[in-house]
Amino acid sequence: VSEVVFQGGTILTIDADHRVLAGDVAAIDGELVHVGGPYTPRTRDYEVLDCHGCIVMPGLVQARVHTYQTLARGRADDLERMDALRGVIWPYEAALGEDAVSAAAELACAELLLGGTTAILDVGPVRHTGAVFAAAAQSGIRATIGKAMLDAPDAGIPPELRESAIAALDESAKLIARWHGAAEGRLRYAYAPWSAWACTDELLREVGVQARARGVRIQTQAAEGRAEVAAVRGRTGKESVAVLDGLGVLGEHCCVAHATLASDAERRLLAARRAQVCHCPSSDLKAAAGVAPLPELIAAGIPVALGADGAPWSNRLDGFAELRLAALLHRHRGGVRALPAPEAVRMATLGGAAALGLADRIGSLEVSKRADVIAVDVSGLHALPTSSPWSAVAYAARATDVCHVVVDGRLVVRDRRLHTLDLGRVRDRAKRAAARLFA
Ligand SMILES: [Zn+2]
Repeated sequence: VSEVVFQGGTILTIDADHRVLAGDVAAIDGELVHVGGPYTPRTRDYEVLDCHGCIVMPGLVQARVHTYQTLARGRADDLERMDALRGVIWPYEAALGEDAVSAAAELACAELLLGGTTAILDVGPVRHTGAVFAAAAQSGIRATIGKAMLDAPDAGIPPELRESAIAALDESAKLIARWHGAAEGRLRYAYAPWSAWACTDELLREVGVQARARGVRIQTQAAEGRAEVAAVRGRTGKESVAVLDGLGVLGEHCCVAHATLASDAERRLLAARRAQVCHCPSSDLKAAAGVAPLPELIAAGIPVALGADGAPWSNRLDGFAELRLAALLHRHRGGVRALPAPEAVRMATLGGAAALGLADRIGSLEVSKRADVIAVDVSGLHALPTSSPWSAVAYAARATDVCHVVVDGRLVVRDRRLHTLDLGRVRDRAKRAAARLFA
């Protein structure tokens, strides 16, 4: 169908005035044409979604995920991040074939969409990143994806995963040619150099140059933990954000995940370059990596998004869980106003859109934006009685409360059923592939 109507909900627009409206939201050919008040379909080919008792809002955007890691869910529990990476995740990745990558990515995309996440920034594997793009294409999710780039000779990277800078850049260029702008623009590429400790200066500098030349974004991580900070200092003698900046990586087009241990100087540099930061509260807490200085990042004017990181790191790719945790986590230092519900919801939607460079296209419900819209059922016992929709979404809602999901105007979840992938097949493939990998 070309026209979709979310009928009769409470609408969180996430516009500049944080307006909350009653009525309908409608999209034609993927573009929002109506937000608030009654709507009558304008074409013959339309679908009406009953949203009474629901909050209708922009889909959640997660600016840090690793869909290819989903088969390693539960395999990195209670380990230091660096130990998990070297002992579990990299060996897992070295053993991944194309079919397993596809199974992992389909499982992730299904979980994400059913849980109301409509767009992701995804660091893919070193190899077979095309299979991640293909799974994202099939699932209907909006995804900006990049293959991981790892070329430092002394970072403990398994030989199967370490490439030369040239090979990593060549493969990225091929993926850009094939996938950047594919699926009517739903799929995009973003360079994904692993970090300042796992990449050489040569690679990082060239990523900086090529990303600008091609108008493609960059996703990486920095200050993500003590061992990682020490590794960057060992390789370069500097802090990780300073290394990224010195090599031309930082900028508005760059999203830096974690920033957990970002110093004052690093925060100033991120702000000065107008770089994006993706806060990953579950992942950081689980790995005991520290608590990111979110109030300070926000006070410095740095745009912040949220992400679950990969399934090994947070176990659930649940945008509502990250939203709630982010809203609560910083109050031990910042007090009850550290991140109020409306700001937290904005971070999980429009903040994520900005991190993908798509704030002018998605992240809020405004006429002429693309239609990435979800309906969240707040009639569950845990959300009743609903006093404020901000409160319901930030503190009470769960991924399983999402009942309808539209991405780019296409209905992908209706009445909690995913239309794009066969869930029985997704489950079987994932279980079989994981059993083989971890046998
Ligand atoms: Zn990560």
